[in-house]
Amino acid sequence: MTNANGEAVGIDLGTTYSAIAFVDETGRPQTLNNAEGEKVTPSVVLFEESQVVVGKEALKAIATDAPRIAQCAKRELGHRLFGKTFGGKQYPPEVIQAWVLQKLVRDASQQLGGVNRAVITVPAYFDEVRRKATQDAGLIAGLEVLDIINEPTAAAIAFGAEHGFLRADGTSSKLQRILVYDLGGGTFDVTVMEIHGSEFTTLATDGDVQLGGFDWDQRLVNYAVERFTKAHEPDPRQDANALGRLWRECEDAKRSLSAREKTFIGCEYRGNAMRIEITRPQFQDLTRDLLDRTAFTTRQTLRASGLQWADIDRVLLIGGSTRMPAVRDLLHQLSGKHPDVSVSPDEAVAHGAALRASLICAQAAGTPPAFTIKNVNSHSLGVVATDPETKRPRTGVLIPRNTKLPAEARRLFKTQKANQRSILVQIVEGESADPNACSQIGRCVVRNLPPDLPAATPIDIAFRYEENGRLQIRVRVAGTKAKLHHELTRENSLTPEEISMWRAIVQKGGRSL
Ligand code: AMP
Repeated sequence: MTNANGEAVGIDLGTTYSAIAFVDETGRPQTLNNAEGEKVTPSVVLFEESQVVVGKEALKAIATDAPRIAQCAKRELGHRLFGKTFGGKQYPPEVIQAWVLQKLVRDASQQLGGVNRAVITVPAYFDEVRRKATQDAGLIAGLEVLDIINEPTAAAIAFGAEHGFLRADGTSSKLQRILVYDLGGGTFDVTVMEIHGSEFTTLATDGDVQLGGFDWDQRLVNYAVERFTKAHEPDPRQDANALGRLWRECEDAKRSLSAREKTFIGCEYRGNAMRIEITRPQFQDLTRDLLDRTAFTTRQTLRASGLQWADIDRVLLIGGSTRMPAVRDLLHQLSGKHPDVSVSPDEAVAHGAALRASLICAQAAGTPPAFTIKNVNSHSLGVVATDPETKRPRTGVLIPRNTKLPAEARRLFKTQKANQRSILVQIVEGESADPNACSQIGRCVVRNLPPDLPAATPIDIAFRYEENGRLQIRVRVAGTKAKLHHELTRENSLTPEEISMWRAIVQKGGRSL
């Protein structure tokens, strides 16, 4: 196989499954099979004595070795350490993700002959901290991360490519407005985009990083346990391996219910076995509130985009969980249109990422860009201010979410007391009025203010936020020479030393040095 861009690939690093793709010499994205011959690889890591095993083998071990399995690390990105301990050790979630990336890249290298550059996708709703952690995972896996792009944008690019929007002959210059509904294994995202010729513009995005197919599985597990424990004792959830087996049964049952009206969940524990029947309507009842949450976010995002359903040309379904008939019915009901399933929900994101990687390589080689991407910020950016009435901290938003990037904003604040000699500017990301409920993404201090500065002296704070996550902060204090220019980049959450240490461990193929 020949890769049009040397060794650059696109990676969909999913919560439950991941995929890797490249652009072939004809310019078409292709998914690369893993060593087991499959297009998707379970994002599951098994900790063996001295090494780790990733993918299908690790997933199989959930029935016998559940305590040694790491799953859904994507949901824990942004935390310092993954919640579970392995052999008395806790690992950062980005290291677990790095093992998944390494497996994908190793298998891809077998076919392409050396892969070291990649575009990795993240949910549009990921905040800066999680984006940085994903970038770090790439570095630890030994990759040069060319870009981190949003999953719905990647899907829209793949859709555009599939439908000829990216041809140079201008056949597709008609404006298309699409709504991308992305329900994966662990995250949910909804994004409204415009595709105009070769320009991809995000109008609004929202989502939930704690909602995905995994939660649907969980409902089936609870249902099966309820039925089982009516007849038998004890609760199989007490035993991690029994729970692992049951979870796999339930995930299988969920998939069957996408194709059939009823199925059975096998539940066996301590010599007792039961075959539990479940029908599609029952399953839909058990999970209705989860689906309703996605409906709420979908309506809200459409409203935020300033459009109505009549303005939407296509509804694009992405992510394995959109195979559930209830999801398709919901989108049909909401939009009055049949959702578009022309791109494979498992492959579209990796394909879009591969096209993006190919674009970056071509641009570096001097070729004009085949398409451009314009984004919005998925979370509001602001500073910690003080409420003049209550004197309590409150979020002072400068750039509200869903603002087109790059964005600039200015806002005036005031010094709190007379003779204040310094000002601490704490930068936060999030929607809550309470800054403690937002993510703290950086801080800077204006020092050496002149003495005798009166209380309530205006402080002029300006932000410039770019697509690559770079935030420039300028602070000026009225009537003084005091000013500050600070730049927050998508810095690594782990220190450079930690990254090189983990990189050495992961490259060596072990669990520790
Ligand atoms: P993704 O992260 O996009 O690969 O999505 C993986 C999720 O899709 C997992 O929760 C799977 O259980 C779920 N999934 C895959 N196929 C089906 C199906 N046929 N019916 C229901 N859910 C599915």
